[in-house]
Amino acid sequence: MSSPVQKVVLITGCSSGIGLRMAVMLANDEQKRYHVIATMRDLKRKDKLLEAAGEAYGKTLSLAVLDVCSDDSVKQCIDGIKDRHVDVLINNAGIGLVGPLESIRVEEMKSVFETNFFGVIRMVKEVMPDMKRRRGGHIIVVSSVMGLQGVVFNDIYSASKFAMEGFCECLAVQLLKFNVTLSMIEPGPVHTEFEAKMIQDVREKEYPGADPDTVHYFKNVYLPSSVDIFETLGQTPDDIARCTKKVIEASNPRFRNLTNPRYTPIIALKYADETGGLSVHAFYHMLFNLGPLMHISMKAMRYMTCGCLRNRAVAPT
Ligand code: NAD
Repeated sequence: MSSPVQKVVLITGCSSGIGLRMAVMLANDEQKRYHVIATMRDLKRKDKLLEAAGEAYGKTLSLAVLDVCSDDSVKQCIDGIKDRHVDVLINNAGIGLVGPLESIRVEEMKSVFETNFFGVIRMVKEVMPDMKRRRGGHIIVVSSVMGLQGVVFNDIYSASKFAMEGFCECLAVQLLKFNVTLSMIEPGPVHTEFEAKMIQDVREKEYPGADPDTVHYFKNVYLPSSVDIFETLGQTPDDIARCTKKVIEASNPRFRNLTNPRYTPIIALKYADETGGLSVHAFYHMLFNLGPLMHISMKAMRYMTCGCLRNRAVAPT
């Protein structure tokens, strides 16, 4: 049960990764300013969260079932909250999809949009009217740098996050009139099950329908670069949770929050050339011409910084 002075924070997708660490960090706030409702599809997956949350469970942390792909589940969860009152909604649940387009079934593509895009919309539609009526609230959406700049072989995942960015740009303006804030968190690579699932998936999949050249570029050129980038520049889920807590606590929260400053130049590249050619050719060159060189320089960077680069690559707000 939340106290009247505590903000009620509802987070989706808390059984692992970023959502789990956000729930733990906010529930363990020293000043106990938050009551966190950590939600997940299946409460059988609660153990990792409860172990990390320690004594907060039952005090500043409670659990609820929520599948962002189900209208009924979303409604039931929000109806189960006292007065349906949510101060901060964190839309974190998401799934990835990587690989040659030819080998991905349209059904798989739709399920990415169902979770990453319509899942957020379902949550917003359920919570936003009460926030508007109360003239207060904060909606946070975990997007990605891939919602700002597409990355080769991530066509569908990127598209789902781009869709989210467009949706948020529109809604943020209207919500301002109702004193409701909308913020996006835009991480680069983060070490979570997301990355592990991607690597496992790639090992298991055959990629039917894709020609041998494309499969070769995906497996032997893109994938090693991606692993290098994750290892060298990847942040931790705690980094993203810290950034999100700062956004919640800011007196004037920013709309966009890139969590990893090393990605700022990549985004700038896109806007530096209105024809779009600069970023398309830069990415092409980086992957197909500089791939092996990049592998060596990433290795050198890791060696020289002994891994401390990863810790320093956090600069929210
Ligand atoms: P993760 O796989 O550890 O966590 C995603 C969570 O969402 C899981 O707990 C999963 O069970 C949950 N989920 C999936 N479908 C759901 C549904 N229908 N209803 C409710 N929950 C559902 O991965 P993560 O890295 O912690 O991902 C969290 C968010 O961060 C995602 O939106 C992802 O797109 C975004 N993100 C991740 C990275 C990264 O590199 N890991 C980078 C940028 C953005």
